[in-house]
Amino acid sequence: MPNLKNPSPPADGYRGRFAPSPTGPLHAGSLVAALGSWLDARQNQGKWLLRIEDLDTPRCIPGADQEILRQLLTCGLSWDEEPSWQSQRREHYQNALERLNALQTIYPCTCSRQTIASALGSHGVITPRNQEMVYPGTCRPSQMMANDAIAKPATAWRLALPPNLVMEFEDLMLGKQHQALSQGVGDFVLRRRDDVFTYQLAVVVDDAEQGITHVVRGQDLLSNTARQIYLQKILGYLTPSYLHLPLVLDEHGEKLSKQTLATAIHTENAQQALQELRKAAVHLGLSNLPDGKAISIAEWLLAATQAWNRKITSS
Ligand code: GLU
Ligand code: ZN
Repeated sequence: MPNLKNPSPPADGYRGRFAPSPTGPLHAGSLVAALGSWLDARQNQGKWLLRIEDLDTPRCIPGADQEILRQLLTCGLSWDEEPSWQSQRREHYQNALERLNALQTIYPCTCSRQTIASALGSHGVITPRNQEMVYPGTCRPSQMMANDAIAKPATAWRLALPPNLVMEFEDLMLGKQHQALSQGVGDFVLRRRDDVFTYQLAVVVDDAEQGITHVVRGQDLLSNTARQIYLQKILGYLTPSYLHLPLVLDEHGEKLSKQTLATAIHTENAQQALQELRKAAVHLGLSNLPDGKAISIAEWLLAATQAWNRKITSS
């Protein structure tokens, strides 16, 4: 059993990151995540790293990564160190998967969504359309052991969770959080049937290998954090601090997605970028920032960094 106590983050300084998926250009929501994580890093004299999460290739749009880099630079949100692309780091995820296999914590699964839905249905469980299905453990062996080969065609690999696992963590903005992982999520997938490493595994490996101490991102990702902390414990990684920023909602109170046209932002020039930054700042609860036209983005960002406060952000 892994030690479930929270180890403290490394003492050698703040390292934050912004990790967009290149499924389109930045939109109002992702700019809030970029700005919030950048301000938190800068205010703490920390480093801010940029990671392109491009593993789910069917969803990635060619060129979107370069457009995101360009938008960030126009907004004055500069990064430290070389940006990384997850598509170039597959062997790191494979190594982590092999370590988990040696620890006898993963098993192969050939269930389709349909099989899972009917297995759940036969137990009287109906999953609402917009919710993830809790995996009922259909393929889980009664006795976990290390598998000889973890490259099997059309096979997903799932992490076996202990029964009744509840993860607790402290969010720097939202306070205490907890999630019942076994009951609420079930054994989750680390490598998909189509051979794609999942977000959960890749983000945990990258956050650890890049020495990330602070994860600042949108609240849409809050429900992933317990899974990520659990994986960190098993892999022997430190757990960073987490802060989840309020989501930008559309006029119907729905989460903004890249499909929603209303969310596009204009960053053709510095003037437009400053406009968008100002909207993002209002969303982060920052008030009394300089509002004149004459101000440069650099000056404005400095004022915003001084004004940044983890507690004032409205939720
Ligand atoms: N790539 C993820 C997204 O754009 C964010 C991952 C993260 O910040 O942990 O939704
Ligand atoms: Zn299965």
